[in-house]
Amino acid sequence: MLTLIRFIIFFILFYLFFKLIRDKFLKPKTDRWQINKNFSAGNIVGPSSEMVQDPVCKVYIPKKDALTSVFSGTTYFFCSRECLEKFDPADHS
Ligand SMILES: [Zn+2]
Repeated sequence: MLTLIRFIIFFILFYLFFKLIRDKFLKPKTDRWQINKNFSAGNIVGPSSEMVQDPVCKVYIPKKDALTSVFSGTTYFFCSRECLEKFDPADHS
């Protein structure tokens, strides 16, 4: 009976220890991932949940996921590389 209690205590301690280690090592990774995400969104300031419209297929996409291209000083956002290549700035000037 005592052995069982010891085993349970050991198991709980082991679990807590594992959780602590996991949190310690996983958290910096999550932060790094968010930095990369912000980096890929370019120099956009403000909430990354902002929606932008693709001028080719007219879908709305989160700004952070959009592909961007600058034509004569205007930034355009695209849902995919296909749309970016299809885009003709002459139609939108
Ligand atoms: Zn598109």
